[in-house]
Amino acid sequence: MASSPAPAGEKAHAVCLPAAAQGHIIPMLDVAKMLHARGFHVTFVNTEYNHARLVRARGAAAVAGVPGFRFATIPDGLPPSNDDVTQDVTSLCKSLTETCLGPFRRLLAELNDPATGHPPVTCLVADIIMDFSMEAARELGLPYVQLWTSSAVSYVGVRHYRLLFDRGLAPIKDIKQLTNEYLDTPVDDVPGMQNMRFRDFPTFIRSPASDDYMLHFALGIAERAVGASAMIVNTFDDLEGEAVAAMEALGLPKVYTIGPLHLLAPTSSISMSLWKQEEECLPWLDGKEVGSVMYVNFGSITVMTNEQLLEFAWGLAKSGNHFLWIIRPDLVKGDTAVLPPEFSAETVERGLVASWCPQQQVLNHPAVGAFLTHSGWNSTLESMCGGVPVISWPFFADQQTNCRYQCKEWGVGMEIDTDVRRDAVADLITELMEEENGKVMKKKAQEWREKAVRATKPGGSSHRNFDALIHDVLAPSR
Ligand code: UDP
Repeated sequence: MASSPAPAGEKAHAVCLPAAAQGHIIPMLDVAKMLHARGFHVTFVNTEYNHARLVRARGAAAVAGVPGFRFATIPDGLPPSNDDVTQDVTSLCKSLTETCLGPFRRLLAELNDPATGHPPVTCLVADIIMDFSMEAARELGLPYVQLWTSSAVSYVGVRHYRLLFDRGLAPIKDIKQLTNEYLDTPVDDVPGMQNMRFRDFPTFIRSPASDDYMLHFALGIAERAVGASAMIVNTFDDLEGEAVAAMEALGLPKVYTIGPLHLLAPTSSISMSLWKQEEECLPWLDGKEVGSVMYVNFGSITVMTNEQLLEFAWGLAKSGNHFLWIIRPDLVKGDTAVLPPEFSAETVERGLVASWCPQQQVLNHPAVGAFLTHSGWNSTLESMCGGVPVISWPFFADQQTNCRYQCKEWGVGMEIDTDVRRDAVADLITELMEEENGKVMKKKAQEWREKAVRATKPGGSSHRNFDALIHDVLAPSR
């Protein structure tokens, strides 16, 4: 793709286009802040739905922008709504792909109108999910960088879906096929991946042929990424060097590892939380002993039944530990979460339940000893960077792959059965918080934290790669 650097003396202008979900907006915001700190004019594009949510959660000032950093919106194509809930992933991906190119083109034309006073757009940085935008970059001859917000190994997994087709493991005809024995089928010959079973691949491969939109969507975006100018990944070489080499061997343009982004990005007043954060968690943690609190949070998309919620609740109660439990208002499928009064009475002295929290700060709080997580990629990196080991209950997408690596390759976690039971919850919490095995995992997590910090300091691999990305791709004339 042709590159059109900013004319000498004019500011480079990056348009950053995150996918419309919390776990994608946060890492893209970090990339945007890093570009802004390096002198780029930045336009950050949210969907109208999410922008309205940000205003409700954080107040209009939080998304007013700062000099040289502006927000813009495009519609997501779904019916208008004032809800504060996570949108259905399949409907959203379909709608973004089918409806957003036109509005995005119009936005770029507006940004390029000299009457606006902005410097003309010189590069696009888009989440791979927003790959409709590749067409717009091509039309304008702009460098087009894609952000893969998950693990490198999960990208390699998606790119090998065709291998699983060839072996007759997928697409499946009926989900009844997915017995434990079937899911345990070894697939241990994929370059860049270790000790994989069918169950460890990103879960879209498990879709039945009658409902396989996400399977083909995931495969399609991963394959079309070869047409981008470069790919950036929120990971670091010590952690995933082998998987990154495997990504490049799959025909991608240069892959730049620039993570963990939250360590590399400058702190700033701009933050992008779609729910109002309950800051009172932090003083509550201040009053607890070092390493004594079990932190429980399943991210922004996971849903569960009320029965599963109760198994977690009684497992936490039985473990006897202090806990901070984040129950998102839409965590329980089709209903509001209901915790029995006996649970609240029994745990009132040692538990705090909140609806959303400043997770990065929580995971860096010395009182937090372990994390019960869904293994979303941001949570995976944030727990490593806090030196906190995990119990993993993966829900969907890349989380099963991340969980496998956390537990088997990186030595920082233990998996809990999908069919969660209170006794298993209590036993794993005890093992992680009190027993030798837990201490070993904690030590491992702390070692990874040191490596992550090293990667993001001047001279570290991610720090150098970000410089190279600017120099090679985003603003070659600077
Ligand atoms: N997050 C947060 N507060 C919460 C829960 C989550 O700030 O109470 C942030 C978390 O720090 C992470 C992101 O939301 O950066 C969730 O991304 P992840 O990839 O872990 O999971 P997803 O929500 O995409 O499933």
